[in-house]
Amino acid sequence: MSLSQDKQPYVGRFAPSPTGPLHFGSLYTALAGFLQARSQQGKWLLRIDDLDTPRNAQGSIDHILKTLEIFGLHWDDTVYYQSQHLDVYKDTLHELMENRLVYACTCSRKTLAEANPTQTRPDIYPGICRDKMPPPRTPHSLRIKTNNRIISFQDELQGLISQNLADQHGDFILKRKDGIIAYQFAVVIDDCRQHINHIVRGFDLLDSTPKQIYLQQQLGLPSLQYMHVPIIIDTQGYKLSKQTLAQAVDLKAPHKLIFELLTLLKQQPPDELKGVEAIELLDWAIAHWDPTPLEKLRAISR
Ligand code: GLU
Ligand code: ZN
Repeated sequence: MSLSQDKQPYVGRFAPSPTGPLHFGSLYTALAGFLQARSQQGKWLLRIDDLDTPRNAQGSIDHILKTLEIFGLHWDDTVYYQSQHLDVYKDTLHELMENRLVYACTCSRKTLAEANPTQTRPDIYPGICRDKMPPPRTPHSLRIKTNNRIISFQDELQGLISQNLADQHGDFILKRKDGIIAYQFAVVIDDCRQHINHIVRGFDLLDSTPKQIYLQQQLGLPSLQYMHVPIIIDTQGYKLSKQTLAQAVDLKAPHKLIFELLTLLKQQPPDELKGVEAIELLDWAIAHWDPTPLEKLRAISR
């Protein structure tokens, strides 16, 4: 019997952070993930990555849900909120601590700057606290020990990606000094809890994927399939993100925006479809979805 016969049904997801309203760039990623899932009769789940409470913006969850509805990007099952699963992260951290894979780090920004005076790669943690006992009751983050084993994966669009975590990132943070669970850690736990087996997301997260694979390995979790789609940049070359204050998408003419998004996804929707409703456009896109023209593309300008 060939392995493909017992292939698991596709389960994908969209996992926005509610740091502002949904903008064009996030809708682009959402649509890619939706089409990838639906074209394989798969499930497409919605998760709200709301752990970074200081960055959560009031009203953005409602805006995100409403936007997806208006654009016809209907998700399966109930919405999963990361903030409702804090005990799971805590228990899993405990497990890693018992296995001595995690340690307390009390480094301040200043310590880190002094340890790396040339500032060549200030984001690589030099391991200062790795073998120290933290002074009691000092605020600290929790870091996971990395090693020199190469982590590789075959991205469905970007090809073979390989990283040496120890060299390229150093021991990274699972829980921040302010107590907040880091994205890298939460995402791995939740993708597994939601039985997700396919990730479609923006190229900006490609560099995070080896860290997440490493965490899956340490926790004995199944590995996933990854597809990193190009990010949308403006004509000046900046990412259309919430940080650069990209505007909320216009909800008044969804079919027009979907047509534009499909063009930017290189699906070449025929001109006859210009006047049709969003739903009809999506049906066409599901039937014709082919992500291969996006191969090796990191960014597309709008
Ligand atoms: N919540 C993350 C973000 O909005 C994305 C998570 C993911 O797709 O892995 O950037
Ligand atoms: Zn430290």
